[in-house]
Amino acid sequence: MSHYKINELFETIQGEGSFTGQPSIFIRLQGCPVGCSWCDTKHTWEINLESQVSTQTVLTKSAETDEWVELEPEEILRTVQGQGFKARHIVVTGGEPCMYDLTPLCQLFEEHGYSTQIETSGTFEILTTESCWVTVSPKVNMRGGYKVLSSAMLRANEIKHPVATEQHVDDLKALLNQHQITETQVYLQPISQKDRATKLAIDTCIDNNWRLSVQVHKYIGIE
Ligand code: SF4
Repeated sequence: MSHYKINELFETIQGEGSFTGQPSIFIRLQGCPVGCSWCDTKHTWEINLESQVSTQTVLTKSAETDEWVELEPEEILRTVQGQGFKARHIVVTGGEPCMYDLTPLCQLFEEHGYSTQIETSGTFEILTTESCWVTVSPKVNMRGGYKVLSSAMLRANEIKHPVATEQHVDDLKALLNQHQITETQVYLQPISQKDRATKLAIDTCIDNNWRLSVQVHKYIGIE
């Protein structure tokens, strides 16, 4: 039986990529060794056994903490149903969700009429259902030393790349060339909503016919 360590479970609006604007239920999993310096979910990196808490504690968090609860897919489904959420789109994020086999989780939700999406760095083998929408946000040369996997780049339904410098754009182009990715929709996402990063992202999107993803949730002040 699969178990998932859940840091957060909440309903909101998807603010990034193709599903921007879609009411969604976010399941944030605990654990990530990738080590991005700009990561805005550093509290999900470590799995500390003393931080295991109850489902209720996770559901009622009012601040970002490293607390997590371990649940099986059926328990997660019951929890979502019990919350009375109206959204029918599940986003499994992290942390690095592909540290887990996501197939049983996504399959169960799909069997109950939900669409599913995962957001991954592409540095772990992607194990999920065929119909799951896979967002790969490739993380190149990060502190953890993980490599972006070819299988992840090829499985991606969309590629969402954080950018602040020309080097980030060059890294993405090298990855796309290396894996011969030509058809997958590419989104550029300015890091930390900085003006310079936003201008670079806009100019690069226009030059390459890529799309801009501006993390809408951060502009309208929701999670
Ligand atoms: Fe943070 Fe995601 Fe990078 Fe992990 S892969 S360090 S969760 S941005």
